[in-house]
Order: sequence, then structure tokens, then C-alpha cells
Amino acid sequence: MDLSSLTIAAARKALDAKDFSSLELTNAYVQNIAARDKEIHAYLEVWEDSARAEAKAADERIAKGDAKPLTGIPLAIKDNILIKGRVASSASKILENYRASYDATVITKLKEQGAVFLGRTNMDEFAMGSSTENSAFGPTRNPADTSRVPGGSSGGSAAAVSGSMALAALGSDTGGSIRQPASHCGIVGLKTTYGSVSRFGLMPMGSSLDQIGPLTRTVEDARILFDAIRGNDTYDSTSLPDYPLKEKGKVVGVPRAFMKEGVDDGVKSVFEKTLEALVKGGYEVRDVDMPNLPYALPVYYIICPAEVSTNLARYDGIRYGLSSPADTIHEVYTKTRGIGFGPEVRRRILIGTFVLSSGYADAYYRKARDVRNLIRADFERAFDSVDAIALPTAPGPAFKIGEKTNDPLAMYLEDIFSVTPNLAGVPAISVPAGSVERDDKELPVGFQLVGPMRGEGTLFTIAKDIEKSR
Ligand code: GLN
Repeated sequence: MDLSSLTIAAARKALDAKDFSSLELTNAYVQNIAARDKEIHAYLEVWEDSARAEAKAADERIAKGDAKPLTGIPLAIKDNILIKGRVASSASKILENYRASYDATVITKLKEQGAVFLGRTNMDEFAMGSSTENSAFGPTRNPADTSRVPGGSSGGSAAAVSGSMALAALGSDTGGSIRQPASHCGIVGLKTTYGSVSRFGLMPMGSSLDQIGPLTRTVEDARILFDAIRGNDTYDSTSLPDYPLKEKGKVVGVPRAFMKEGVDDGVKSVFEKTLEALVKGGYEVRDVDMPNLPYALPVYYIICPAEVSTNLARYDGIRYGLSSPADTIHEVYTKTRGIGFGPEVRRRILIGTFVLSSGYADAYYRKARDVRNLIRADFERAFDSVDAIALPTAPGPAFKIGEKTNDPLAMYLEDIFSVTPNLAGVPAISVPAGSVERDDKELPVGFQLVGPMRGEGTLFTIAKDIEKSR
């Protein structure tokens, strides 16, 4: 069994043909995790016993001829997605021992299909970050070069897949946290249309931006996992009605004016080569004017912290996880939060509280909300004339561990191309497109495609063409 090239689609065929059992497949992953994860640290916890039991149950189901697309498929789950009875910590000290009391809707769906859960993966604390260095439990290393970050915040999920320690994984994406680590680890990552996948049981970061989505080795696998987890859910008030996947035409727009500065030369050349391959494949590539994109990053770093500051108010030392004893209730709150939250989380709560405070909300939060609407309108206008928009996923390849930890603005700039789809609610995919060489190592580089609302079908088609052209 060659785990380094195995896909969900291939494993499905092999399982159904009884070439190997889910138990054998699961054991292979558990062994690989034991061999590699001391160095990589993709997982915060591995559930080998329950994974084996789930695999055995899947094998029985396969024997009965009752297999679904994900029956017996070993997956890794980001640590901010609830699984009943399991610790879910969001890689935070404040939730280190918190156990989920119910299943997230995506987990219910995967359980119904008989998927195997290998463990929970490392992440930036509460999904705030772009490198997985903000985990309270130590960073994850990039399997392509272990002196570098895997990206973030779903860096554990991305490293688990690229390091052959899971067949696929779930992550969450608020401003790039699936796509950017997918790009840095050389795999596919999909940020789904806002409302297409239920957020019920996902720990909220920025509720108007968050989506759960797949990290996989191929575009086909991303589609399989997306199909398994999507669907209308009455437990999520922002859930969309179910929709069929449609493919549209072959016109790709490039907002050139937005890409003039700050992009690594190697990343630029991978981007241009990919556009050339698209043209050779019969696509039309056209410049699009999206004048408000330069405001996306500052708008994101107002709206996201604003929502973070409200969402994280629930961690008060009473309702969930850590509680630090003190003489007054107010002291319990402040002590628990002071001990439980790391520096980036505190920074965002401070920024968020400030931009929402009376006297400043008009100047910051409401202004940002208005500009967000302009960004949305930019996308709507662009999609009148093109079927998808192309951007780099991140401005550079994976950076060194520690390189940006003391410079929050440099870290935020990592998200310049990934935050806009979340602000607009539209879907976006990162697909491996090439690599750049650094210190004698080939570092993967992703290519990002953004689609209109409910436009995943188009993204899959174009991304597959990019996969084929390589
Ligand atoms: N890197 C971005 C941030 O720090 C995005 C995080 C995410 O998508 N969860 O906010």
C-alpha cells in the first residue's frame, strides 16, 4: 500500500474490491503516524483504538455491499470541530480538557457514512493565525521541509494529509485557513460557499466568515468529501438550501492591478505558467477590474476580530473548560481568560472590542462592513463577465518557523489573497500548481480559483484541468 499517493477515490475502489480492508488501511496510517508525527506534530491526539473499531464496523458494512463513498476512509479532524465525548480544544489552554457534548453536523454526516476518525489535528489557537505556531501545544512542521511552517490555521490537517498520516482531513477557513496550508503543503483545499456546509458544532471564530471544508490530495477527493458534508441544516441559521453543482464556461478573470506588489517571484512565475496552461487548454484569460480588493485585508482584520471578541466572550471560566478560582466572579473571568488565552487571541479580543466600542464603531466596524459590501459587489460585477477568478493562494511559499512570529503585520499579510472570498461568501479552491526551490528543497505553491456563490462545480472542473496539465 503506497500511502503517499493513495486517494479517497482509489481507496474506495480497493476497499470495495477487497484488495485491502479498512482495518489494514487504518493500521497503516496509525503506523505512519507513530513513525512520523513525533517530528511533524500534525496531531494533538490520535484515537487508534476507536479508529480500529470504526474500521472493523466499516469492513462489515463493505462486506454487506452497503458502502458509501467514505465508508472505511481514515480522516483527520481539526481540533475545533466537535465529536461527542471527545476533547475539542481549538489548540487552546482554556479548552485543554473540554469534552464535546454533541457531534457537529459534519461529523454526524461522516459517521452515517462510516468514516474512520484517526484523531484531532493541531491548529492556531481558535483558528487565529497563518502558521499553526499559535497553538498552545507547540507548532506543526511542514513535511516538505521540517524547518518551515505548514501554514495555518489548519496546518495540522494539511500536514497530516501531505505527510501521509491521513487520507484526507477537515479544516475550517475564516480567511484562508484551509487554502493557505493546502498551498504550503502541496495539497488541495476548498473553502466552500458560505452556508453550504453547516457550522453547527464548529467552534466559532468569525461567524460571518467561517466555513468547514476538505483538505485532500486531489480535486476529485475534495469533491467527494464536500458532497459528504454539505447540505441544508436547521441547526445553522445561515445554512443555504441544497443546490446542484453546475459547471459554467471557460473564462477566467485575473485582477492584475491587485497583484502588482509583494508577491514572491517564484510564486508569480508558477501563477503565470498555470494561466498559460489554462489558455493552452482552451480557456480565455481576461483582466478584471476589482477596485476594492486592496481594502480586503484591513477590512478582514476589523470584522474578524470584532466577531472574535464577541464569540470568545463565552469562555468565562464558568461555562466551558478551564476555571481559575478567585474571590469574585469578575476575577474568575479575568484570571481564567488571562491564563487560558494566548497572545494572538488576546490581541484580537482587544482589537475587536476597540473597533466595536461606542465612539469607534462608526469609524471602524461600520465602515469596514460598508467596504465589505463594496468588495462583494466587485465580485458580483466580475462574475457577470468571467466564470472564475484566479489569484495566488498566498504571496510566498512556506516560511521558516519563527520567521514571522514577532511581526503580526507580516503574518497578517500572508492572508492578502485568501481573505476576500470569505468576505464575499463565495467559494474558493487552492490546487497544487508548482514549486519554488529554497535551501535545496522544493516548496509547493498553490493556485487559487474563486467562484460565484454555489459555484463549486466550476471550481472543480477548472482545478481538475490544472491538475491534468501538470
Ligand atoms: N490567517 C487568517 C487569520 O489569522 C485566517 C484564519 C482562518 O481562516 N481561520 O485570521
